[in-house]
Amino acid sequence: MVGKILDGRAVANKRAAKVKETVKTFNDKGIIPHFCVINIGDDPASKIYVATKKRRAEKLGIKQDIYQMSAETTESEALELIAKLNKNPDINGVMVQLPVPKHINSDHLIEAISPEKDVDALTSANIGRLWQGTHFVLPATACGIIHLLEDYEINVEGKNAVIVGRSNIVGKPTAALLLEKNASVTILHSHSQNLAEFTRKADILVVAVGKANLITADMVKPDAIVIDVGMNRVDGHLMGDVDFEKVKEKASFITPVPGGVGPLTVESLMEQVVALTRRQNDCGK
Ligand code: NDP
Repeated sequence: MVGKILDGRAVANKRAAKVKETVKTFNDKGIIPHFCVINIGDDPASKIYVATKKRRAEKLGIKQDIYQMSAETTESEALELIAKLNKNPDINGVMVQLPVPKHINSDHLIEAISPEKDVDALTSANIGRLWQGTHFVLPATACGIIHLLEDYEINVEGKNAVIVGRSNIVGKPTAALLLEKNASVTILHSHSQNLAEFTRKADILVVAVGKANLITADMVKPDAIVIDVGMNRVDGHLMGDVDFEKVKEKASFITPVPGGVGPLTVESLMEQVVALTRRQNDCGK
């Protein structure tokens, strides 16, 4: 079977149209969803991500401020800014673009964000809510993966879901959400032995590692659903973690890179801003 492409861009655009409508209803009440991105230092990839978010936000009527801070910024200066943004009632969301320079502890900055404004859902309070199933904000990539599966009406209940990668931003929250949807979840990482033994049993395989071609066709179960989160620059081209050309011959569904999970991540982030705005104001459902 040749895998059907899970078109993240199309799903993101469809969802964006709905978000735009919702934002309009907020605007009618005098409310403009507004979030801030704190970017510390000169990481070129971070600057691109921040600009991509801003373009997407503008299209949807969401206001995004970028606080570009120099690489010499101290942790206490960054904490001061976060405290100021936490207190500002006009601001609905705050996030720190990662990575931050080495002399700053990113955990300290993330933990300083008010959980009510934690648009990346990375504070321990919101990670706790995620695993308890009482979340009001979700990490964007994990949320995007679930939206993609839902849009293609892929039911995960009772399925074997294997997630390769256990980061706080992708692997773990994706595991929590698949578990919430009643999948049986296995998480693999760099210490896991015999990766293929696990991946071959996966009805749903999510790969978030950052190593091009880590997952080859022989590691995939026939008709599996393969979600490739990886983004690797190889010879100037963007590639995922999965050997796309070969695996698509075996999978029932597969995400391309680019055009799979990436667009949904940005889109889902905007949905988190809207969710926090709704929660902080009387905006109805
Ligand atoms: P991290 O580097 O934080 O995590 C990578 C994970 O992969 C770790 O848990 C690590 O294990 C595990 N790992 C490393 N090597 C292996 C291996 N050989 N076998 C099994 N597991 C391994 O990365 P992120 O989660 O932040 O990102 C992962 C990828 O996804 C990157 O390419 C990133 O660019 C991309 N990404 C894409 C997004 C999108 O929107 N499409 C959004 C976010 C990320 P251990 O914990 O033991 O170190």
